[in-house]
Amino acid sequence: MSDKNKELYDHLKGLIEKIDESDNYYNAFTDFWRIACAAQNSTINTKYKYDDSSKEFIEKYKKQLSDIRKELVNNIEYYVEKTMKSMEKNKMKVHYAKTNEEAHTIFLEELGDIETVYKSKSVEAKDIGILELLKENNITVKETDLGDVLIQLFDYKLPTYQVGPGIHFEIEKIVSKIKEVYGAELPPKAESIVQFFRDTYRKELLNDVKVSLTSANSISAEDGCIVLLENEGNISLLTRATEKHIVLVGISKIVPSVFDALLMTKMVERTNQADLAYISFIYGPSATSDIRAHSVQGMYGAKEVVIILVDDWRTNAIKEDLFYKSFLQCIGCKTCSFYCTASKAFGNVYGSKYGIGAIGILRDYIHNGIEAAVRDGLYLCTGCEKCTNWCPAEVNLAEIMRSLKKIATEKGLAPPPLEKYRQKIKQEKNPFS
Ligand code: SF4
Ligand code: SF4
Repeated sequence: MSDKNKELYDHLKGLIEKIDESDNYYNAFTDFWRIACAAQNSTINTKYKYDDSSKEFIEKYKKQLSDIRKELVNNIEYYVEKTMKSMEKNKMKVHYAKTNEEAHTIFLEELGDIETVYKSKSVEAKDIGILELLKENNITVKETDLGDVLIQLFDYKLPTYQVGPGIHFEIEKIVSKIKEVYGAELPPKAESIVQFFRDTYRKELLNDVKVSLTSANSISAEDGCIVLLENEGNISLLTRATEKHIVLVGISKIVPSVFDALLMTKMVERTNQADLAYISFIYGPSATSDIRAHSVQGMYGAKEVVIILVDDWRTNAIKEDLFYKSFLQCIGCKTCSFYCTASKAFGNVYGSKYGIGAIGILRDYIHNGIEAAVRDGLYLCTGCEKCTNWCPAEVNLAEIMRSLKKIATEKGLAPPPLEKYRQKIKQEKNPFS
């Protein structure tokens, strides 16, 4: 066994041991996560709000969704061009960033001399290292989704559930943190915590936001609009109260039309059993023609809407027919994590800084290579295929994980007992000798 191999598995073993110790972040997350998965498993077949269950909805529209996603993957260059033209017609400023470095440069130029950026969940920002970039440039990032606000408050760096990032923090710990940071004494109740941020942070945001950063749940090529869904209203405030709204988004979020965008959005809502309060369709900057039909940009909403379409690994995965090409069909619903055997057993030990579960590990592989994937717990994947069976967009995640294991094994990075067998097979033609 190589030193590297030993170091990787000692690291992983140390993390797994932490799950069974009490009062640490791995233990707290895994405890919470098992309950969340059980709740998701038991409600997917119930009609909690609609006439059909979420499972029935997924089955009904799965083929349609998957066809929409494959249409993009098979014609990505055509759709990128079409999207850019439609957005420009809508008076948005559009950039195409081939690489992460290009995205960084464009983003900094768009920020100008601004010192604070208000942000809502943006997977792309995390993926391409925008948060680190802002830190290096002394620009303050203010999270606005309450879950992310809590993550910032606790300075929490471990992988978490992207749809509810702070959901595993205990209520008593949240109020004690608020007392420590803001000096406010609150009863340990969710309503009191929410009211506290509503009374303080909401006002600050409305008065202070000049530049806001979001991603997009989907983008319609035909209409040149972005679609954003949320339940807190922070995205609505951020995208309206600001001077400049910057949208940083991967090109894989493009769909042919706004109807397809709506289906993608509904699928995310139903797979997550989420109570969404708002869906925004943003077609461009706010404008008025009320003064003698003279069109002026920037009335109450954003004066400028800037879109940065990030390619990064995507067109290359298609051109090179890479084994993770079908990941471009992903709609980011995270259903695969809820049903994942490894995720339930190992909580956020099984994941990366890009998020929990197999998709977090795959993202780490794409950005940082196979060693990173092994360190994230690649071999904890049992190969059960639940991710593939539940995925509403027909991403064959189980097959992708198998391919990753093959790459790691060929590099001698399999878990020590397996690596020992492999060496014996190679040298002695017998694993048990
Ligand atoms: S791989 Fe499938 S299940 Fe997982 S987040 Fe993407 S679309 Fe959802
Ligand atoms: S195949 Fe692996 S990644 Fe997929 S659900 Fe099973 S354990 Fe999770």
